[in-house]
Amino acid sequence: MIQGSGRCHYHPERAGLGVCVECRRVICRECTTQFEGINRCAACLAGRLKTLEGPGERKEWTVGNAVLAVLGMGVVWAGLLLLATGMS
Ligand SMILES: [Zn+2]
Ligand SMILES: [Zn+2]
Repeated sequence: MIQGSGRCHYHPERAGLGVCVECRRVICRECTTQFEGINRCAACLAGRLKTLEGPGERKEWTVGNAVLAVLGMGVVWAGLLLLATGMS
């Protein structure tokens, strides 16, 4: 039998009352957090809240976005150069 099973993952001296739905760790009453009606351990709740803070719309710039921006700038500059050479 695995040592610690039936005991809180964070408090080995306490009896586990529930299981975190995310990390499947046994957690005691004190570690159990109810959020959105789902049992989570404190660590997973913190992670869940962190993901909720960012709406997801304002994502950090990825390499792909940066490349697209540079390409877009290149197209604009090429157009300007064509206009300039066409005028002279
Ligand atoms: Zn968890
Ligand atoms: Zn605990």
